[in-house]
Amino acid sequence: MKYCRFELNNEHHYGLIESLGGRETITRLVLVAPGSEAPMDELPTRKIEHLAVAEAKLLAPTLPSKIVCLGRNYLAHAREMGSEVPASPLLFLKPPSAVIGPGKPIRRPRDSERVDHEAELAVIIGKRCHHVREDEEVKEYVRGYTCLNDVTARDLQAKDGQWTRAKGFDTFCPLGPVVNDELDPWTGVEVECRVNGEVRQHGNTRDFIFSLDVVLRYVSRIMTLYPGDVIATGTPDGVGALSAGDVVEVSIGGIGTLSNPVTDDNVA
Ligand code: MG
Repeated sequence: MKYCRFELNNEHHYGLIESLGGRETITRLVLVAPGSEAPMDELPTRKIEHLAVAEAKLLAPTLPSKIVCLGRNYLAHAREMGSEVPASPLLFLKPPSAVIGPGKPIRRPRDSERVDHEAELAVIIGKRCHHVREDEEVKEYVRGYTCLNDVTARDLQAKDGQWTRAKGFDTFCPLGPVVNDELDPWTGVEVECRVNGEVRQHGNTRDFIFSLDVVLRYVSRIMTLYPGDVIATGTPDGVGALSAGDVVEVSIGGIGTLSNPVTDDNVA
């Protein structure tokens, strides 16, 4: 099942996506906002005039109560940062106010000289998740997967000693373009980042240091996850700087490409 969130006649909707004649097409509106725990394709829907996903005004596909992120979940990235490999999942939060959708600009804040891309697979939670037991299947709690860019002010991350400011600026969490539940990060999904068309990062989720089983159980023992919440699963190696005028893309097999232009924040 694939879905997106999009704008139609000045209203925001969730739409189910089908492949029609090889074209990704929004065929139905989902009528209940999916804070509910039912799978998206079991919620009431209404047919609409078919709309190609490529022509829809896509929005970030979820409105999370929180974005829980993993630091250093790929060995090669921990090494490129000169960091220790963590003994247990290293967590931090991004605020929901950082979320932007496909095509929206990432604004480089005036306070930073160095803003980096971090391409990541994002897990969207589908069911309230608290103290997941060892004998429970964690996939039961996953609604699907999408692309995320964990944009980071690298200089402020080093300066502050903790990461709230470096990771938390408005526009620092591009998400999208669609959510797909037909991926299997356990067997391996390709995650790629390109800047102005040039490949900067290329990894595979089979190289996670901590699998999604470990991560979901670990997080759920700390904080309750709600439907729509996001887990960012860490970035492969190759992180690098973004400049105003760049276009940064995160591509994941089965999901598509999340593309965002980069601008300087001119707010005085
Ligand atoms: Mg990251």
